[in-house]
Amino acid sequence: MPTFLGHFNICTMDSKEDEAITPELLSFFYSRFFPYKTYVNWLNYGTESNAAFKNRELSFMLPSEAYLRYHSYNGVEDLKAEIMKMCPTKIDIGAIYTAKPRDRKYLRLSAFKPAEKELTFDIDMTDYDDIRTCCSGASICHKCWKFMTVAIKIIDVALREDFGFKHLLWVYSGRRGVHCWVCDESARKLSNETRSAIVSYLSVGGAQVSKKVQLNRALHPFLRRSLEIIENYFEDIVLKDQDVLGSEENWTKVLNCIPDNEIIKKLSNKWNASNSKSSVEKWGELVYELEYAANASGRKYSKKAEQLQNCKLEIMLQYTYPRIDEEVSKHINHLLKSPFCIHPKTGRACVPIQPDDCENFDPFKVPTVSSLYQELNQHTEGERKVHGYEKTSLRPYIKYFENFVNGILNEVKDKKHERTFHTTSPVLKRRPQEIKKKNIAKKLSKLEAEKASMPDPVVGVPTEFTTSLLRPLEVYKTAADLNASRYMNYFLDRKDEELLFEKTPKKIAEEVEKSLKVESEKVDDKVNNSTALVEEKKKAEMLKSLVSLHNSNAKSIMMYNVKKTIEEFGRNENDTGSAEVQAAILTVRILNLHEHLKNHHKDKHNYRGLRTLVHKRQKLLKYLKRESLERYFTTIKKLGLDERVIEGEIVI
Ligand SMILES: [Zn+2]
Repeated sequence: MPTFLGHFNICTMDSKEDEAITPELLSFFYSRFFPYKTYVNWLNYGTESNAAFKNRELSFMLPSEAYLRYHSYNGVEDLKAEIMKMCPTKIDIGAIYTAKPRDRKYLRLSAFKPAEKELTFDIDMTDYDDIRTCCSGASICHKCWKFMTVAIKIIDVALREDFGFKHLLWVYSGRRGVHCWVCDESARKLSNETRSAIVSYLSVGGAQVSKKVQLNRALHPFLRRSLEIIENYFEDIVLKDQDVLGSEENWTKVLNCIPDNEIIKKLSNKWNASNSKSSVEKWGELVYELEYAANASGRKYSKKAEQLQNCKLEIMLQYTYPRIDEEVSKHINHLLKSPFCIHPKTGRACVPIQPDDCENFDPFKVPTVSSLYQELNQHTEGERKVHGYEKTSLRPYIKYFENFVNGILNEVKDKKHERTFHTTSPVLKRRPQEIKKKNIAKKLSKLEAEKASMPDPVVGVPTEFTTSLLRPLEVYKTAADLNASRYMNYFLDRKDEELLFEKTPKKIAEEVEKSLKVESEKVDDKVNNSTALVEEKKKAEMLKSLVSLHNSNAKSIMMYNVKKTIEEFGRNENDTGSAEVQAAILTVRILNLHEHLKNHHKDKHNYRGLRTLVHKRQKLLKYLKRESLERYFTTIKKLGLDERVIEGEIVI
């Protein structure tokens, strides 16, 4: 009945925790149970001839309390021999150094430096003393162990999802805490600075209630996810098991997290008057008060309301969020207790914990060195020969450890395979040339596209402004339509038009009719039908054709365009001197000349004039750019020009 005996033994261990672990028992454990081979494979990470393991620091606490640092070994044999000889009460693992730690006395200081180490985390129950009510100090119970369960869940998912680590070994510390070894290659090579950054990413508030958790308006996704985990456990652990609102001393700590004295007073008076309610009921009252105060009129969107809304989450984080011992994680050369040690006080083995099954991990059921001794004796009596741990309760833990190490080694193998494949394949060797060819083609097509998109340095691209300008040929083509007011010469506008062609002829006709002494009330009818008005209208039509641009010369059309330009670009009616206006007027002249040259190819003189105008405009716009970038860009946009046209060399 090995399980029964084992269980019986564990119960007694629990009641008298400080049972002495004799050197004989330790020696028995190290000779029969300690998984040397897997252990060395783990710490070596698949390097050839144990290169990584040889440079790994191992440190030992001896039964005499002496502490030996900077030991290192070549492999399984000498490690086992030394451990058997020393029978250490504790083994610590340090960093992989640039040389063998045991040779460090013969090395220059610069030749001996920590190079790599797993990213490690240490979560200890003593850091929860200000919030746990069941135990304190070194002791733990099933109730407070749940804090560790939540801690493993939160940190494990963050390391995997936020940092992409895969090889996480969680280990029970043997008494009241857990350790985590992040064994990915990327984690082992982290600098101290990055380690610190990861720790601060994972830290919320601090280990003491005095260092309060404070949340901002927008919750970080990491905190949101942590809170989702915490919500599943908060009531069970903090309210029911720890009963944090059960006594005045404890509920005062919780109430002090609330940023509103009225609520604190109200609740503490209420609970002091009658302490019959459970912590769960009291928590309901607290949450109600917080929500009521946050929604109270006038406060709804204030900073205070935000604080009150966050307060519930802050208390939940304060009471359940993992409390990491930051120093252990920050430094590459920090030592941490090795898995599969025996805790000198409890006699329990430091066994791995499966993170996806951590709720079911019971620290009180972890095999102790004396329970293992008894288990083994049971079997030797019954079955003659038993191979080490195989038939004991330590087996599942060692199997899990073996699988974990195999996972790392398989990844190392795959990587090595990938590397050789890449360097020898002739198909892949041709790749650099292909890549170069592709890059050149890409570059050429990019240049081509840029060239195509570059506007003509003379006329630019058509814009609202440039298309609104009148072109002589276009104007003459539509000569028949005399009523088109935009084609008026001499800067005449709508009002002038009305006065000249409508009002004046009528007025003259009126006067003519009046002079014929017609009765005054019939003047209107007479005028509208009179021969005088017909005469005047004829004259007006003549005038109209005289003032129309259709009958004017190109210069008049140019003048018309210039006036429009000043209206468009000038800061006021009389602004003809600013750089924008000047550049725009030059553009008008350039477009005009360009139009002319389209029809008169042999006009050498005007080609030169066009070139001068374009260069003048370029110079003006460069000046404007120095003056004001904003004005510069709005101007060139309106004129249909481009940075490249102004800054680059222009060839016409
Ligand atoms: Zn406890």
